[in-house]
Parts: sequence; C-alpha cells; structure tokens
Amino acid sequence: MTYPACPQCASDLTYYDGVQLVCPECGYEWQEQAQQTDAVHQIKDANGAVLSDGDTVILIKDLKVKGSSQVIKQGTKVKNIRLQDGDHDIACKIDGSAMNLKSEFVKKA
Ligand SMILES: [Zn+2]
Repeated sequence: MTYPACPQCASDLTYYDGVQLVCPECGYEWQEQAQQTDAVHQIKDANGAVLSDGDTVILIKDLKVKGSSQVIKQGTKVKNIRLQDGDHDIACKIDGSAMNLKSEFVKKA
C-alpha cells in the first residue's frame, strides 16, 4: 500500500490514520480525494439525469441507424435500456432490433 507524497515536504513516509493522511516528517495532515476505483461510472441523459438499467428513455433527435437507411424518430420511447461502456453507452431494443444509443441523445421518460 502506498500513499501519495506529502504535499508540504514531499516526504513519501506518509500514512493513513483512518481519517486523513499524515506526514510524520513535517506533521502535515490532509484529506485525500475519495477513491474513484469503486465509483460507478454514471451515465447521464441530455438533461444530466442519471440513467439506470431498466429505465425508459425518449429520443430527443432523429437518429440514423448505422448501416441502414432506417431512422429512429425523435420522440421514440425506448424501454428497458441497458447501460454499457463505450461511445454508445446505452444498449436497447427498438422494434425488436438491438440498438446502441448515445446517452446525450436521450432523456429519461
Ligand atoms: Zn511532510
């Protein structure tokens, strides 16, 4: 386990006392930013509302379906979305076909 170097004297003998980080050399104590490792990556809609698996969303613009001439119309309701990593961070089914959407083009219903 390593801790960040002391921001005051750059000592690397710092330790965590359960509440804060402490530097034994200069006595400096400080709070480290919350660890991001376990933080869930939040996916937000066009209005900044956090989306979850199973949500229903509404498209806020016409979207072309990649590799076809099909267009999914603005206002289309998409039920039971699944969040995923990637550029298109929403997986869903529209008219029975699997689609990937970008969260910036939807809003929570
Ligand atoms: Zn120090």
